[in-house]
Amino acid sequence: MKIEFLGAARCVTGSSYLLHLPEMKILVDCGLFQGRRELEDRNYGPFPFDPSDIDYLIITHAHIDHLGLLPKLIKDGFKGKVFATRATVDLSPVMLMDAGHIQETEAAWKTKKALRTGKKPVEPLYTMADAELCKGYMEGVAYDEFIPLSGKIRFRFRDAGHILGSASLELWVEEYGKVKKIIFSGDLGSKGHPIVKDPAHIEEADVVLIESTYGNRLHKGIKETEDELIAAISETQKKGGNVLIPSFALGRTQDILFFLNRASRAGRLSNLTVYVDSPLAIAATEIYLMHPDCFDKEAYELIIKAKPSKNAPKLIFTQTAEESMEINKRAKGAVIIAGSGMCEAGRIRHHLKHNLWKEEASIIFVGYQAEGTLGRRIVDGARMVRVFGEEIAVKARVYTIGGLSAHADRDELLDWLGRIKGNPEIFVVHGEEETSFKFADEIIDRFGYRVHVPKWREAFEV
Ligand SMILES: [Zn+2]
Ligand SMILES: [Zn+2]
Repeated sequence: MKIEFLGAARCVTGSSYLLHLPEMKILVDCGLFQGRRELEDRNYGPFPFDPSDIDYLIITHAHIDHLGLLPKLIKDGFKGKVFATRATVDLSPVMLMDAGHIQETEAAWKTKKALRTGKKPVEPLYTMADAELCKGYMEGVAYDEFIPLSGKIRFRFRDAGHILGSASLELWVEEYGKVKKIIFSGDLGSKGHPIVKDPAHIEEADVVLIESTYGNRLHKGIKETEDELIAAISETQKKGGNVLIPSFALGRTQDILFFLNRASRAGRLSNLTVYVDSPLAIAATEIYLMHPDCFDKEAYELIIKAKPSKNAPKLIFTQTAEESMEINKRAKGAVIIAGSGMCEAGRIRHHLKHNLWKEEASIIFVGYQAEGTLGRRIVDGARMVRVFGEEIAVKARVYTIGGLSAHADRDELLDWLGRIKGNPEIFVVHGEEETSFKFADEIIDRFGYRVHVPKWREAFEV
């Protein structure tokens, strides 16, 4: 059989792998490319295959870099079925509708500019209406359940411990009377990561595609990270200012809510008012609460079984723009979680405008800030930044907390891989080019496996 690497090959976004099998074609993930211009341009070209030829699409989780091109796939002729875990099926429409909204807004803005220079209007990559159609193609299945796709092909999702519903994929294919097993790691979580269970151990394989986001790094421990977060909030509370946390809606926001809840109930934080100021984050949080079966034991006890407590933080979900604007009139000493995670868009920019110039306020970065973003400029120590066309002084205290990643670090990835028996052939994916090569060297040193770092659109016979 042949595997084609159509995304997340020497980069971290656009996850997509096409399997050419004797009986059918299976696409694993259909993610949006994000980041550098040349990567984003890849979203707009035609698919390097005919979407109507694909029998099944299997999605590992609901992050947009893994399913964000599904509406385009359908628009371009896909007629097959999409499998994902049940939680992923619930999260996907919410994520895709939001992505469709962003695509429409961007296209409208580009059209305005284009028309002024006598050019044609710009079509969105897909619309909210396109995104809405996806739900009808999706079928949710349980973790660990074997799903036959034919007499000779079957698959199973295993918990990847990354976000709610995230999965690694095991796929068995019988060819010429011999069964081959391929594993797609998906995005793998860290051990002890809040809410979700630890990644499942996979027993054996012939071929493994493994992510390498942090294949060259070690994370700080969860405990140390939580201590840093609590200290930053306590210091700001003492000064009487607001705490802003720019955060991604799916995964990171729920993790932070978990930490704040746990710390408050343990008496390590007090009088906490937390605003979740993002309709997408609110929707994602509600879906988390619909899937307690995906929680680890501690999260189940803390979220589902916990009794009301006067120590628990006061949580306020602000859905509308009006409610969001009210926050800055009302809030003092509050924690405000809003998107986007790198401050490039979304409601966080309003809060930055109202708080950045205040010495008593603080901003806590809990995720990676890419070069060229407003978040990165603040982290790098800019004294003045532009927000909504206005120069704003940066007087608030800036904290960067690095240990909250939802990805396994180098040693955890190697540990996960080391448990797989059968001398598998390895493909290192979902990492920056340099990181992927470094991680590939680690695998060769440690296990002596055959390792590849595929290029975009490269194909391998396995
Ligand atoms: Zn992910
Ligand atoms: Zn990813």
